[in-house]
Amino acid sequence: MAVDEAQNRILKSIEPLRKEQVQIDDAYNRILATDIYSPFNLPLSPNSSMDGFAVRVEDLLDIEKEGSVTLTVVGDIPAGIIPQVELGPGQCARIMTGAVLPGGADAVVPVENTDFVSRDPGIQVPEIVEIYQPAKPGEYVREAGEDLSKGDLVISEGTRLFPEHIGILAMMGFLSVSVYSSPRVAIISTGDELIFPGEQLLPGKLYDSNSYTLAALVKQAGGITVSTAIAGDSLGSIENNLEDAFLKGVDAIISSAGVSVGAFDFIRGVIERNGQVEFWRVNMRPGKPFLFGFYKGIPFFGLPGNPVSAFVGFDVFVQPAILRMGGAKNWKKLVIGVDLLEPIYSDGRESYLRSKVYRKGGRYQAELTDHQGSGNLYSLIMANALLIVPAGTKYVPAGEQLEAWIIRDIIE
Ligand code: AMP
Ligand code: MG
Repeated sequence: MAVDEAQNRILKSIEPLRKEQVQIDDAYNRILATDIYSPFNLPLSPNSSMDGFAVRVEDLLDIEKEGSVTLTVVGDIPAGIIPQVELGPGQCARIMTGAVLPGGADAVVPVENTDFVSRDPGIQVPEIVEIYQPAKPGEYVREAGEDLSKGDLVISEGTRLFPEHIGILAMMGFLSVSVYSSPRVAIISTGDELIFPGEQLLPGKLYDSNSYTLAALVKQAGGITVSTAIAGDSLGSIENNLEDAFLKGVDAIISSAGVSVGAFDFIRGVIERNGQVEFWRVNMRPGKPFLFGFYKGIPFFGLPGNPVSAFVGFDVFVQPAILRMGGAKNWKKLVIGVDLLEPIYSDGRESYLRSKVYRKGGRYQAELTDHQGSGNLYSLIMANALLIVPAGTKYVPAGEQLEAWIIRDIIE
């Protein structure tokens, strides 16, 4: 099965979960369950965008000929109050950034364009001020409603809330907001060779890394890992662990390993006995032996065991599913065109190769990070992108372009 088709089939069978109300302080990374409209105009009142003098534009017309005009200062308007003055001909008022414009004023002249250049705190307002620059109507004035008008749709349902969304919710006076519940996920590693970090490492054994990687990925996608467990390579052990997850009432189960065609690969059989297999095996690399189905009605994602395969399989199939469950309306990966610094060989499957993408000479360039063995987790930590080789392509020469999926910023 092609990667797209597999993604579509998964998303088609997944619905957003419950909704809940959360305080906006807790809404970061959650997905909005309702459309948000502006309850008032923003800004609420016309206000100054500079420290300076609120003026009447018509009083400054002589500056062109005379070089300056002198105005009488009739008020001093700090931020946070309703101005009591009303400007008449030849009058102005000192005004601070964010302060409401007084009646009669139609522009602000920044303090730098006057003879009153002192901006030190506590300095008294002068009685008269000389203005050197004419103004256009509305200059340095933030009009009421210029950012948002009352009733504007500001954030749509299905949007993930980033820090700036939280800020604008506060700006509109919201204390709490309706979001979708975070998907609750169980993670099961399978394999007789697996032990937990902390246990003694003996030949033949291997620390379970997948359940840790996957739990972090679940968190990144907005889900909550309710349990992690290691199941042995037997039908009974896998079934017991799935049943435990079922009894916890999770929204999804993710397993790794035991899903290939080996003699000890029991995942498929267990899902067939207790639910449905929707599909098994996808035309991709790494990550081909991926299974999607339902265990007693719970969406089940069977990822391959190799650590990089599990990671890529999660990113490609499970991440969009968890986002969808968590209420996200639309998800698209961030891909950019990159120049290849080396030739790329593939086997015709849609491939996701660990690579480092960086900008050089105004273009993005990509190079592979170390060897692409699907157990080589180190090459993944050296990467910031997955270079996508389309299905059907076996060779791309150096210097050609491919698309790279940026998986993270560079923080090092
Ligand atoms: P399997 O799909 O069971 O054949 O596993 C494929 C490879 O992935 C084997 O080398 C396993 O030892 C390795 N592997 C499986 N599960 C894990 C895990 N949880 N953490 C790290 N490596 C694993
Ligand atoms: Mg195994």
